[in-house]
Amino acid sequence: MGFLGKGLFQGMAVTARNFVGTYFDRGTREKLVTYQYPEEKPPLPENSRSFPFLVYDGTPDAMRCVACKICETECPPQCIYIVMDRDEKGKPQQRPKVFDIDISVCMQCQICVEVCPFEAIKMDNDYEKSQYGRFDDLIEHLPDLLKSNEYYNEIKPTEAKAVDAKLKAEAEKKAKKGTSKPAAAAPAKPAAPAPAPKPATAPAGKITIPEDAPFTAEQRAWLAGFLSAGGVATSGTGVSPVAVAETTGETPVPLPEATPAAEAPAGGWPWHDPGLGMSQRMDLVKAAPLADKLMAAMAQTDCHACGYDCRGYADAIAAGSETDLSLCLPGEAETAKKLEELMKEAGKL
Ligand code: SF4
Ligand code: SF4
Repeated sequence: MGFLGKGLFQGMAVTARNFVGTYFDRGTREKLVTYQYPEEKPPLPENSRSFPFLVYDGTPDAMRCVACKICETECPPQCIYIVMDRDEKGKPQQRPKVFDIDISVCMQCQICVEVCPFEAIKMDNDYEKSQYGRFDDLIEHLPDLLKSNEYYNEIKPTEAKAVDAKLKAEAEKKAKKGTSKPAAAAPAKPAAPAPAPKPATAPAGKITIPEDAPFTAEQRAWLAGFLSAGGVATSGTGVSPVAVAETTGETPVPLPEATPAAEAPAGGWPWHDPGLGMSQRMDLVKAAPLADKLMAAMAQTDCHACGYDCRGYADAIAAGSETDLSLCLPGEAETAKKLEELMKEAGKL
């Protein structure tokens, strides 16, 4: 039976021991958690995250982002705004002219990172984002967002190393085959609409995305189809290479081999412009063959999220070697619906 207030004295004794220990005992001193912020900053664990940034290789104009807008489409609070760049003739370039993220809305969910097929957007560790202005000051623009791959390696060495290995393997594979980077601008002339092969991936049974995964039903369905088709180990979409490596103990496998871009005819494909709406694009292909109509139904970003460029995906559907009409992620349900409609009209569905 203790006397009244015994616990109080015991607590004081622990406090006194720790206080004195911080001066003499190394173990106790290392337990100190007070930092003289902002002069002193605690080291951040590698998996800490604040807001997204865009990675470039070498110089800022070598940004990895191809303005496919998948992240813009998938961002749950819709805080990303992208405008694709164009040259002086108005031809779309595969890089963003505008890339804004409203960090007052961003919920740091990292979905943009997970869906980017090009390892172009990553989560930063920088948490010092306070500003005096509540509106414009909290919107990060392209120059603010661009950070080097060296910086990425500095803040997240394990993850960045895995990404580098993946991109290097992909580049070597492409160099061997003599293909250019998937983001190569406008494809040129279409040969006969040869069926573009799907990425060579190992079939892995039907994968189901758990109901409590942080995706909408539509996203879950797409992701399940993608992963079931073997995408889990071959694309940055959906599962980070680091997560794959951690789970399987294997080196992450490179991005799916993109189908070499078909060549556009001399006059180009007038509908191949992501700035045009669906009805404008369909007007331009009224009298064209089915493959062109199918191509016009795509989002025209050549983002390769489907495993092809827009031409390749359309040709594969027309040739019957691709039956999944829902692979155009930036085109969303509108493209899938239009593809179905066109295939029905052509008596192929
Ligand atoms: S998904 Fe990646 S490549 Fe596409 S717009 Fe976003 S950051 Fe750029
Ligand atoms: S972290 Fe989430 S909320 Fe923020 S930009 Fe990316 S997808 Fe949008």
